[in-house]
Amino acid sequence: MSGPRAVTYGEARALVLDAVAPRPPVRVRLVRAVGRALRQAVVAPHALPPFRNSAMDGFAVRAADLAHASASAPVTLRVTEFLAAGRVSERPLEPGGAARIMTGAMLPAGADAIVPFEESERSGTSPAERCTVRRPSRAGEHVREAGADLAAGAVALEPGRELTTHDLALLAALGLPFVEVSPTPRVAVLSTGDELLDVDQPLRPGAIRDSNLPLLARLVEEAGGAVERAVRLPDDTGRVATAIREALEACDVVLTIGGVSAGDRDPVKVAITSLPGVELLRVAMRPGRPQAFGAPDGRLYFGLPGNPASVACVFETLVRPALRALQGHAELDRPRAPARAAERVESREGRTDFVRATLAWREGALWASPAGAQVSGHLLPQSRAHALLVVPEAAARLEPGDPAEALVWRLPARP
Ligand code: AMP
Ligand code: MG
Repeated sequence: MSGPRAVTYGEARALVLDAVAPRPPVRVRLVRAVGRALRQAVVAPHALPPFRNSAMDGFAVRAADLAHASASAPVTLRVTEFLAAGRVSERPLEPGGAARIMTGAMLPAGADAIVPFEESERSGTSPAERCTVRRPSRAGEHVREAGADLAAGAVALEPGRELTTHDLALLAALGLPFVEVSPTPRVAVLSTGDELLDVDQPLRPGAIRDSNLPLLARLVEEAGGAVERAVRLPDDTGRVATAIREALEACDVVLTIGGVSAGDRDPVKVAITSLPGVELLRVAMRPGRPQAFGAPDGRLYFGLPGNPASVACVFETLVRPALRALQGHAELDRPRAPARAAERVESREGRTDFVRATLAWREGALWASPAGAQVSGHLLPQSRAHALLVVPEAAARLEPGDPAEALVWRLPARP
C-alpha cells in the first residue's frame, strides 16, 4: 500500500466537490421544503398583490374630488358602496362619490386614493351615508398597487437558495403548493474503536465513551441528510470492511470515524484498500490531517480521523459542504463573517488552521479568541466555541488585530 497523498485543504475541497453530482430533484409540499435547497427558479405566476387594494380601513375616493379640501373648505362625498375584503365593487366610483372600504379590499374602478376613517367624518346611514374630508388627498395615497410587491413573471426565488420560513409565505401567496428540491441524502455513520462505549455504559479502565457518533449523526441531520445507520464497530478490519461495503450499497454518503492514521490497529486504513477510487490523504489542515476520501460507484466515502476536534472540523469544512452540494445548495459553508484575532494565533505557512474560537463584540466588530488549547482530543473548546476561525494557507500566524474569516456556528449576545 502506498502512503497517503499529501494535499492542501483547497485541493482536498476541490477533490470532494468535483465528486459531487446533485441527484434529480423531487417535488415536495411547502412545509417539507423549509431548510432545503430550491432546485428550480420560482417565477411568479401572477402579481403580488394580484389587484389594487386598500392599505387602510377608510374611504376609497377620487383624489381630484378632494384636491382643494381644507379645514375651511371641507368636501362632503356620497358613500355609494361598502367594500369588505374579498368583495368586488359592482359599479365604478362616480365623481363626488366614495366607497367605504376595508383593508385588503379591491379598489372600485375610478377610485385612486384612500382617506382613512381617522381622517374623515361619517354622517348618515346607507343609502344616505356621507363622508366629510378636511384635507386634500393625492392619487395613490394608502393604495397598494397590483404588482408593487412582485410583478407577474418576475423571478421570485433563484435555484440554489436555502428555503426559509418566509419563502414559504411567499410561495403560499403565489399559489405554489409544491417546489422542487433535492432528495434527502442517505448517510451512514460508522465509528470504530475497541475503546469506545455507549453514552449509557459505565466507564471501565482504558475505555472512553463514543462522543463522535452522536455528534456526527446530529450534524448530518442538521445538514439535511438522513442518518440511515449509525453503528459502532470494533477495531476489526474484516468487520469494518464489510460494514463499509454494505453501507455504500444502501447509502449515498458513508462516513467512518477513526482508524485512518498511522496506528498499528487502524482498521479503516486497511479496509478501504479494496474500495475503488478511495485513497488515504494527508490534508494540510489542522485539525484533521489524516483522512480518506473517494467516490466508489458514485457514492461518497469520507474516512474521518478519530479525534473529536478533527471530526468536527473535517465535517464542517469538507463533509458538510459536500452534503450541501449534493442537495444543490448555492452556499456550502456556515455563515462566513469577518472577525479580528483578539490574540496571536500560531499556524504554519502551507497549512490551513481551523481554530475553535469564541467570538465577542467590540465596537461593532467580532473579535475571535481561541476557545482553549487547540488539542484535538479536547471536547470543551468545541462546546465553548462560537466559530471556527480560519488561518489561511498563506499565513504563518494571525497577529492581534489581524482580520480573518470565521465560520460561524452561533453569534455571541451583543453587549
Ligand atoms: P484513531 O484515529 O482511531 O486512532 O482515534 C484517534 C483518537 O480519537 C483516539 O484517542 C480515539 O480514542 C479517539 N476516538 C476515536 N473515535 C472516537 C469516537 N467515536 N468518540 C470519541 N473519541 C474517539
Ligand atoms: Mg481508533
